[in-house]
Formats: sequence, C-alpha cells, structure tokens
Amino acid sequence: MILLGPPGAGKGTQAKRIVERYDIPQISTGDLLRDNVARGTELGRKAKEMMARGELVPDDLVNRMVGERLVQADCARGFILDGFPRTVVQAQWLDRFLAGKIFENQKPCDPPVVVQFDVDYNSLLERLTGRRSCPTCGRIYNIHTQPTRVPDVCDVDGSKLVMRNDDRREVIAERLKAYELQTRPLAAYYRRRGRLVHVDGDLDVDSVTVQIVEAIERFRNAPVGTESGGA
Ligand code: AMP
Repeated sequence: MILLGPPGAGKGTQAKRIVERYDIPQISTGDLLRDNVARGTELGRKAKEMMARGELVPDDLVNRMVGERLVQADCARGFILDGFPRTVVQAQWLDRFLAGKIFENQKPCDPPVVVQFDVDYNSLLERLTGRRSCPTCGRIYNIHTQPTRVPDVCDVDGSKLVMRNDDRREVIAERLKAYELQTRPLAAYYRRRGRLVHVDGDLDVDSVTVQIVEAIERFRNAPVGTESGGA
C-alpha cells in the first residue's frame, strides 16, 4: 500500500497503525534517508544537503535504496510505503519492481492500494511546526493536536522528544513546493489505474484509520483494475 499526501498529512502516524493491524512493515523513505545521514553512509552524505533544503533526493538514489529494502524477507507478505513514490519516475520504477522486472528471480506482486490524504493547507503548517518525534521508538506527537502527557517527553518510553531539522518554517515552504510540483501529479497516475482512494486527513486520527482500513478491505475483495469507492 502507498500513502500519498503532503508532508505533515499524517502518513507516518497512520502507517504505524496499519503496521500493527496487518503486521506488515512500514517503509518510510524519509526515515531511511535520515538513518543514512545519521550513519554518515555515502547515500547519507549525498542526500544530506538536499534534505536540509527541503528538496527531493534524486530518483535513482532513492529507487536503489527502496529496492534493497523491499527484497528483504519481511516485505514478502506486503508493505506500506510512506513518502515513496514522490515523482512519476519513482512510480514507474515501482510499477516495474511490482511486476517483478527489477531483480532476477523476483516474484510479481499485486498492484498497490494508494491512499491519498486530503488536508487543509493551514492545518498542514500547524502539524509540521508542532510535530515532535521520539528518537527511541519513533512515535510521532504534536504539541497542538496530539500532545504528550508530560511536555516534550515520550508517553511510552520517557525519551526527550526531538523536532526534525526540516520541520523548520523556512524548509517547510520548500517541501510543500516540491510536493505540489512533483508529487501531486501521482494522484492522477494512480487514479488512471483504478487504485486510488481519498481519505479526509483533517479528521481525527482514529477516523482516518477507519477510512484507510475500509479502503484496504474493499480493494482486497475487488478484482484488480476496479475503481473502488473514495471521494
Ligand atoms: P519525509 O520524512 O517523507 O518528509 O522526507 C524527508 C525528506 O527526505 C524529503 O524532504 C526529501 O528531501 C527526502 N525524501 C524522502 N522521501 C523521498 C523520495 N521518495 N524521493 C526523494 N526524496 C525523498
């Protein structure tokens, strides 16, 4: 399944819930890239400056990183892509991957269910500037909409929460611009394939999860290529 939507739409939060429900891994390209930056790998060194500016990392680097992750055994039953694909070139690469055409001895998979998060622009800004995450367990909170019991401390493991570097106001504008120009066209790409479902990302977290689970179940029971529900 693919979670499609602007930064701050709630994709990461929902992905964690779907992981728990369906026991499939979340592949977040943003998390994978941040991990590469933290470890100082070659990929991390190449991506660091672009990420700090809020620009997208080149397609070939991201595709290779995703390919290496998707062939791991835990992805065999399915996976949730959060933050990928983000360009038409990445979506075309993913189509070839899912068709089993990238690696030798790779089995083809079903086409993805694609969930598009529709969110009001002002609430995006509030979510992005208010977002804090736990460096230990990865849980995401928001000082405005999903605060912790004790300010700045993870409810689950007590770690001090951190703000992402690229959630600073000046970088956010660039990230939203990259989304509008490069990622928004993907909705049409997947709509043409009959695999797109819209969810109202401005609803509360539980209601969004309900919408996503309904979409997954509808598609599970629908023949491939059938347009299924969604606004
Ligand atoms: P995210 O956590 O998904 O908002 O990603 C943080 C940053 O990582 C983005 O602003 C990009 O610089 C980079 N990034 C993440 N996913 C991709 C992708 N699929 N393609 C290109 N760059 C990406």
